[in-house]
Amino acid sequence: MSPARMRAIPRAAAAAPEAARWLGHLTPGQVMCRSFGHSWQPHTAEWIAAEGSFKVVLVCTRCSTGDEDMTRTLWLSNEGRPQVGGGYHYPHGYVMPKGTGGFNPVMRGAVRLRLMETLVH
Ligand SMILES: [Zn+2]
Repeated sequence: MSPARMRAIPRAAAAAPEAARWLGHLTPGQVMCRSFGHSWQPHTAEWIAAEGSFKVVLVCTRCSTGDEDMTRTLWLSNEGRPQVGGGYHYPHGYVMPKGTGGFNPVMRGAVRLRLMETLVH
């Protein structure tokens, strides 16, 4: 175990044991997306006349679980400008449990180190 990993995991676990448990249950895709951002692909797009806007749904091809998709919904005007609204749907387990301190710099580092465990041999 590298010195960096030895530092980061205990700090995260000491801050909130639930945070360390959450980290241990992330899927490989979720670890990748938490480290480098999502891999969005268009899923659906439609003109919604009542809103005067296009509704676009993107799906992350990496961290969707199969049972549940990671999606981002966005709205575009008829001029292609982003509109207020939309949002994200996160698969179960992607978001840190409430009361664990949030996805702070220590947890970001811990997730990246978990990824390194799979990439560095
Ligand atoms: Zn993703």
